[in-house]
Amino acid sequence: MINAQSKEIAVAGRNFLFVPGPTNVPDRVLRAMSVASEDHRSPDFPALTRACLDGLKPVFKTTTGHPILFPSSGTGCWEAALTNCLDPGAKVLIARFGQFSHLWADMSARLGFEVELLETPWGEGAPVDRYLSALESDRQHKIKAVLVCQNETATGVSSDVAAVRRAMDSVKHPALLFVDSVSALASIDFRMDEWGVDVCISGSQKGLMLPAGLGVTCISQKALEASKRATSRRCYFDFGDMVSANASGYFPYTPSFQMMCALREALKMLAEEGLENVFRRHSYLAGGTRAAVMQGWKLNLCAAAPKWYSDTVTAVMVPAGIDAAAVIARAYKRYNLSLGGKLFRIGHLGDLNEIMLLGAIAGSEMAMLDAGIQVEPGSGVAAAQTFWRKH
Ligand code: PLP
Repeated sequence: MINAQSKEIAVAGRNFLFVPGPTNVPDRVLRAMSVASEDHRSPDFPALTRACLDGLKPVFKTTTGHPILFPSSGTGCWEAALTNCLDPGAKVLIARFGQFSHLWADMSARLGFEVELLETPWGEGAPVDRYLSALESDRQHKIKAVLVCQNETATGVSSDVAAVRRAMDSVKHPALLFVDSVSALASIDFRMDEWGVDVCISGSQKGLMLPAGLGVTCISQKALEASKRATSRRCYFDFGDMVSANASGYFPYTPSFQMMCALREALKMLAEEGLENVFRRHSYLAGGTRAAVMQGWKLNLCAAAPKWYSDTVTAVMVPAGIDAAAVIARAYKRYNLSLGGKLFRIGHLGDLNEIMLLGAIAGSEMAMLDAGIQVEPGSGVAAAQTFWRKH
């Protein structure tokens, strides 16, 4: 018998990847990208470009926006939004309530933009009333862009982007609206056109179920027009160069053929399941995970209230005196289970089902017990099962 308290063994079987990105890459997608390179200037290439860019439009819920693929991760798209649409030193408004909203605010400052920061407790989401009063007081319209993180991956918190748009409209504020949907797109509803989003920022390695490596963004016509006037310096990430090359099915530089093959396949999978079903699956799996945490383990979420609960990531507060890093290390080394973060986070987005998630919940229980957290063995598994059988 293995002494689970002291001995770490080489763990057979697949690594259980339950970080909130990168997510599991479905076998179908892996097979689709296992192809020889092709000439990206060939006459056949535009068909692949169109399949990717047209296929992304329903995912962004846009008919008028321009999906763009940068060879970057989500961070590159943050930078692209700022430098394409704003003049040097322009003012942006952003709420900070987690590591990713912090990093975006920090990037804005480091690029020389003036940042009006709405400090918000971690565990809460975008404070719509405070966005509103900041916009209302800005009678001279100095704020040129409003930045919102739709799903703060660090704290497992979702925000109401539509409400931020309503706040902007209610005071007729002309600023552009930039939304970070890195850990929401293709897992939690996002509506580019209906919400009047000017730049949506995302990446390949989350709800799109691909490896990391593509910055997946979408820009409104208004953002494209703004980019023609804005004088901040950029070159590689220039929206105009990309949109004009894409119009004929090509790219201003060498695109990743294999990643585009993978994206085409992932988009097919999303369309086959149906986007609304994908959202429902994420919400249902998230409900079971929260039941495991709160009813089973009797632990708290970082998210401070149900309206903030994220359907893609659950951040679990460990009891005082316990180091969450010990749970994460134990889960990885002993149980081949990858959890995320400083708190401990269970990512439940992308290609997964109940049974996979039960594995992660069971593994979390074992790692917590090993780290000295007295949860009842099986309690999280039972609570999640009970939730799912009812829903
Ligand atoms: N924004 C959010 C909400 C994220 O979760 C992440 C990464 O996890 C990023 C931005 C940064 O994206 P990337 O790591 O793809 O550059």
